[in-house]
Amino acid sequence: MKKVAIIGAGPAGIEAASLLAAQGVDAVLYEKEQQPLHNLTDKAFLFPNFADAQEVAEKILAKLNTPGLTLKADTEVTQLQPQAASNGWLVNGEAFDAVLLTSGYTTFDAHRKEELGYGIYPGIHTSLEMEKMLREGKVVNTIGEMPRRIAFLQCVGSRDEKVGNHYCSKLCCVTAVKQAIEVKKLMPQCEVYVFYMDLRMWGQHFEELYRQAQTDYGIKFIRGRISEAGGTFDRKVQIKAEDTLMGRPLKLTVDLFVLMVGMEASRGTRNLGALAGIAGEYGFAQSVDPHIADNLTAQNGLFVAGSCKRPMTLTDSLTDARSAAFEVLKQLLEN
Ligand code: SF4
Repeated sequence: MKKVAIIGAGPAGIEAASLLAAQGVDAVLYEKEQQPLHNLTDKAFLFPNFADAQEVAEKILAKLNTPGLTLKADTEVTQLQPQAASNGWLVNGEAFDAVLLTSGYTTFDAHRKEELGYGIYPGIHTSLEMEKMLREGKVVNTIGEMPRRIAFLQCVGSRDEKVGNHYCSKLCCVTAVKQAIEVKKLMPQCEVYVFYMDLRMWGQHFEELYRQAQTDYGIKFIRGRISEAGGTFDRKVQIKAEDTLMGRPLKLTVDLFVLMVGMEASRGTRNLGALAGIAGEYGFAQSVDPHIADNLTAQNGLFVAGSCKRPMTLTDSLTDARSAAFEVLKQLLEN
């Protein structure tokens, strides 16, 4: 029986591992955390249709029950080494016929943007923290009351020369629109502002969601850069910005300020990419060709899928995982 290691039990890893196992492969899925799929189970609702993230996660997690799939949770991969003699790979001392890297992403650490006050002043949260509040159905200001005014800021840690990330994280625009709508559904009287550089509504139904945010929910979108955020004596947040459409500076005091943090290569992606010699730009793993060989790498028998390559939606990660499973099977049949 052919044996494949899949590293990272996110959506891509679980999808590929279950497909490979269903095809008679001994699929060993490594996950460094105790629980798989943590980047999905921490969400409330998914864009653009507000699907319940927990229900979607449960359906993906059910695939772990595929016979032939073994999950090794709480197990960090520290050895990833090609074996020239057999064309296989050694992973943590075990021999495999092929390896699929699905080690995913992490979110940008907002502390690195000191001028935005995260971790310094109360009332400043990341989009992940806002997602948690939405999941619990309770969004409150710093004194436990319903906020009257909330501002979201796009592109935190993405498209930012200062932090060295020039790329767009692709998902945060639509996530801000989604979260802003959820806030208005919970608290219709709350004023909601979204500060953006550009709004990148590239996916199916994203543009409609953005229009709905304005027409049905009265969310205000301001094209502007926020230069700094600080605390006020009454535990609110004062933000200083420039409205780049009107060409004028503005100040706004809000109860909550939400930083839409971008995606970066996870620690595992950085380490394993470097170890295997497939590290690409910004620490993401590099495929051979993004058009025609996006699951192959420069190393024989080592494949890649999902957001360890670049920011990707859940849907794109699952599709990419299916394509990767096919490439792995193809190689197993050839060898
Ligand atoms: S998706 Fe939007 S918020 Fe995210 S980095 Fe790109 S432009 Fe900025």
